[in-house]
Amino acid sequence: MAAGLDRDTLNLVLGAIREFANSELPDERLLEFDEKDEFPEGVVRGMCGEVLGVSLLFIPEAYGGMGGGAYDVYRVCELLASIDLGIATGALATFLGSDPIVFGGTEEQQARWMSQIAEESLLMAYGATEPEAGSDLGALKTTAERVEEDGEIVGYVINGNKQWISNGGFADLYTILAMTPGGPTWFVVDRDTEGFEKGRPEDKHGIRASNTAALSLQDVRVDVDRLVGGVEGQGLVQAQAVFGYTRLMVAAFGLGAGWAALDRAIPYSAERIQAGGPLSEKQGYTHKLIVPHAVRLEASRAYLEETAERLDDGEEMLNTEGAIAKYLASEAGNAAAEAAIQALGGYGYTKEYMVEKYKRDVKITTIYEGTSEIMEMTIARDRWQEHLKSRGRYYHDRAVALESIAATTPGVGADIAALALHALAETMEVARVQRLTRNQHVLFRLGELVAHAEAAEALAKRAAAAARGELHSKSDGRFDAAGIAAVSRVYAREVAARVALEGARWVIGAGAEGEVDASSLEAAAGHKAISQAQGGLLGDMDLVADALYGRSS
Ligand SMILES: Cc1cc2nc3c(=O)[nH]c(=O)nc-3n(C[C@H](O)[C@H](O)[C@H](O)COP(=O)(O)OP(=O)(O)OC[C@H]3O[C@@H](n4cnc5c(N)ncnc54)[C@H](O)[C@@H]3O)c2cc1C
Repeated sequence: MAAGLDRDTLNLVLGAIREFANSELPDERLLEFDEKDEFPEGVVRGMCGEVLGVSLLFIPEAYGGMGGGAYDVYRVCELLASIDLGIATGALATFLGSDPIVFGGTEEQQARWMSQIAEESLLMAYGATEPEAGSDLGALKTTAERVEEDGEIVGYVINGNKQWISNGGFADLYTILAMTPGGPTWFVVDRDTEGFEKGRPEDKHGIRASNTAALSLQDVRVDVDRLVGGVEGQGLVQAQAVFGYTRLMVAAFGLGAGWAALDRAIPYSAERIQAGGPLSEKQGYTHKLIVPHAVRLEASRAYLEETAERLDDGEEMLNTEGAIAKYLASEAGNAAAEAAIQALGGYGYTKEYMVEKYKRDVKITTIYEGTSEIMEMTIARDRWQEHLKSRGRYYHDRAVALESIAATTPGVGADIAALALHALAETMEVARVQRLTRNQHVLFRLGELVAHAEAAEALAKRAAAAARGELHSKSDGRFDAAGIAAVSRVYAREVAARVALEGARWVIGAGAEGEVDASSLEAAAGHKAISQAQGGLLGDMDLVADALYGRSS
């Protein structure tokens, strides 16, 4: 049986959070936190602990938690982000802070700290980043020296600095990554430990309701039982082990914040009359500012949900999938919020209408838990290996599987997504033959195309499942089966065109003039079929607009 809550319990949790937000967090209050750059400690503690117990979601039942799965955590994170991404980040930091213990701690450590977080509603912080070690955590300078007595290690003395730590100034318990003689290692440090200082809050672009602070550790002494997992040198492995999971949370943030912005723009445009009619009826408006963003957000949702379900079914180490979900959802959320400002015109540019705040807030999702560029690198490196190992069959095989879905369930975009996957395989093959991935930019651009092509695949599978009436029982259902199918067709066309054109641009562009033959690439990658498949695009965008505005088509 899949891990996680049953549907009713999840709905109860989501309902309680919505109710809390409706009564405690009206726009005016959220704008005030933003304006004053204030961490609402009471609200975050109430949400995580005493009042709502959101932190209980990720704590195993054995330790007094609810034992929520990845799917549940995604839905809760999406909702929190749609309310306020700063407050959501306060909750995320506790998830993140405890993750090294959940995934790498000994049984004793898990029992001790997870029970404590559950019973005492502790806030946590996750201290990995340093002033000179961001994307490259291996460059960390914080050290943990052994303290030995009678030839036995009894503790460690930690020295160093951490940068940009969420909840840094307010957490009760910290997980700190430090270099031991055996390599990078996590330690659990109490807030009041001697020598442990917290910096003043950073003055940030967005998520101003979250607290971000630098940490300084000077001769901070901890007992040996605070070394997570009991063995030195496991820190980066433990950090890697949780990425599949934690990056899904940030993906859910991008999704929630992006939709929050569109959910302001959609009703606004139905009311706003310009040139004799509502903006919502003007194609030049909806098909630029609303529809493509809704489509990209739903594509990232399909990928996110698929990954969450796989994690709940017991698959491990879905790091590349976590990276794809985070990359797509955070970029889509960011673009959607930017478009929402435009969609509200001058009003969008003022604070009162909230979309300006969503835009500033959601930007962080493309930076923390791994930047978009690091995601591109992670995705490309992994799938490049798959391409090599399979002798170029990896994406062709996935395309063939989609073609059989298209045969049994037509009209869900599977045939067009298959064209994208075939084109991707051919583009990667040219890159291999010409040895083009020695150019970092080509590799990263392939990472981008891989992410979109896999999301088109996930969305088409989702649309096919919806058409067969088999969609996930806990799904939120923004679109019905016909709506998801239209969304999928629009996205698959966009992705196929992108893979064909952008792929050709970079693999041809990386070679010298005339080195890569454009016409043979175009033929192999199926450019003609991809152009042909664009037929019907505008009609499908109309369908998506109708679904978003509740119009019958
Ligand atoms: C508000 C906020 C909250 C945060 N919360 C936490 C937290 O709770 N705990 C924690 O440990 N950290 C936290 N972080 C840190 C965050 O994870 C890092 O900022 C992030 O990983 C990027 O590191 P950096 O800032 O050092 O940027 P850098 O790594 O210096 O990157 C700068 C730019 O260079 C690019 N780049 C980096 N390496 C490469 C490469 N090899 N090739 C090509 N391009 C590259 C990046 O994509 C980026 O665009 C937080 C940051 C912020 C701003």
